[in-house]
Parts: sequence; C-alpha cells; structure tokens
Amino acid sequence: MSDLAPKRLLGKVIVVTGAARGQGAAETEALIREGARVIATDVTEAPGCRRLDVTSEQAWAALATELKESYGQVHGLVNNAGVTWRARLGDVRPEDLARIHAVNVTGPLLGIQHLTPLMPPGSSIVNVGSSAALTAHYPVAYTTSKWALRGLSKTAALELGPRGIRVNTIHPGYIETEMTASAAPAFREANIRETPLGRTGTPGEVAPLVVFLLCEDASFISGAEIPVDGGMTAHGGVKSISDALHKGRP
Ligand code: NAD
Repeated sequence: MSDLAPKRLLGKVIVVTGAARGQGAAETEALIREGARVIATDVTEAPGCRRLDVTSEQAWAALATELKESYGQVHGLVNNAGVTWRARLGDVRPEDLARIHAVNVTGPLLGIQHLTPLMPPGSSIVNVGSSAALTAHYPVAYTTSKWALRGLSKTAALELGPRGIRVNTIHPGYIETEMTASAAPAFREANIRETPLGRTGTPGEVAPLVVFLLCEDASFISGAEIPVDGGMTAHGGVKSISDALHKGRP
C-alpha cells in the first residue's frame, strides 16, 4: 500500500489475540499500516504485545476495563490465537480435547462476551478457523475445536447483527508458521499436493483478508466463511483423481 493511499482503519481500536508471531503478528502489522490502534495480545511475552491468555475470563475482563478507560470503544476483534494437538481418534484424551477447545473455542467466546459491550455499530469480529473446520482433518481435537468455532461464529453473527456488529470466519489452509513447522515434513508435502495453487501460503497472504473484513469495504458481509487456502478445500478431496487422469498431459 502506498503511503498516500487513504488509511481504511484510521483511529479504529482493534484487539488481536495470538499476535506474538505467525499470522497474528502479520495481521497486527497490516492493521497498523491501515491506521488502526492495535492492541496486540498473546499468552507469551513478546515486544509490543500485551499479555493475555485467551482462556482466562479475568484477563479478558481486565482488558475490557482498560480499553474502556483508555479509548471508550473497541471497533474490532481478531480471534486469532490457536493451538493444535496432533493425536488421532484412537489416542486423543478428553483432557487434550478440553485444553485445545479452551483456547480455540472458549477463548473466542470470552473475547466476544467481554469486548462486544464496548463495540459501536459498524464494528467487526474475525474468527480464525482453518481448512480443518471444513474437512475431516486427522488431529481430532483441533478439528472439532475449529468446527465448534464455526458454530460460535454463526450464532454470534445472528445475535450481534441487530447491533450492527459483523462476525466472519476465515479458513486458512497450510500457512508457513511455527504451528505448521512443528508438523512432519510429509504433512507439508501432502498439503502442497492437495492444493490447486501447488504451494503453501504465507501469513502475509492471510492478513489482507482480515483487514478487508474489519473495514467498511466489507460492510454487508457477516456470517461468511472465507477459505484462504490456495483452493485446497474447494475440490472436496478429488484433486488426486483429477491429477491421476491428467498425468502426462497439460
Ligand atoms: P502460531 O503457533 O505461530 O501462532 C499462534 C499464537 O497463538 C502464538 O503466538 C501463541 O503464543 C498464541 N497462543 C497460544 N495459546 C494462546 C492462549 N491461550 N492465549 C493467547 N495466545 C495464545 O500459529 P499460526 O499459524 O500463526 O496460527 C494462527 C491461527 O491460525 C490459529 O488459530 C491457527 O489455528 C490458525 N490456522 C493456522 C494454520 C497454519 O497453517 N499455520 C492453518 C489454519 C488455521
């Protein structure tokens, strides 16, 4: 974006969770470039980040009080913080499921509950789902949490719509961050094979969608789910069939 372009989020107060690295950090930078006052938060210490564990109701309450005193209003929330756990169906333990859901589902719920009282009409919430929320992704605790987040987003869009607050969900595919770096190399290779664009994505390719959904350009978009996955979830798992039949042909 040129420095002369109008800033689309000038003066807007926006909270981003899980902002210490990866997609949250890229979203924070992109929002600041658009003139937003970003409250970058994370459970880990990082320069420029305020400490917030999304699973803590007290932490959200304290943040809401602070923001009310400092700014009076909050215009945006990006529920980006997320964790994975790669146990399969036969091995996953109830406590793992609870731990993953606490961050990926209860976290966004608490954020919505504590910050929406400060949101005027025109505010916007973006929940970060996953291609796992659209498919039978094998890490069952993560997959169930992201499907649950879809349900939360739909209900929130319904309930907050009359107040002029929009709620949308984005579904990243394989994005190069520490989360995916911790997976087996075969996971990356298989994702590339299943992705029509034939590559992985970067945090910088997710952030513009988040910016768009937070600003007035998206003023009539609510309850939507937008994949940012190089086409991976669009083919419904049949890319290998298409590839097999096209072998040796352009
Ligand atoms: P990442 O692991 O690099 O970043 C996640 C951030 O969340 C970290 O900074 C971490 O400290 C923070 N976090 C974890 N638990 C927290 C808690 N309790 N409270 C506050 N912050 C917490 O991963 P990422 O890829 O940047 O992930 C961002 C979001 O994107 C997550 O919701 C993830 O599930 C989702 N996602 C990632 C991918 C991918 O391929 N990387 C794909 C689909 C969806």
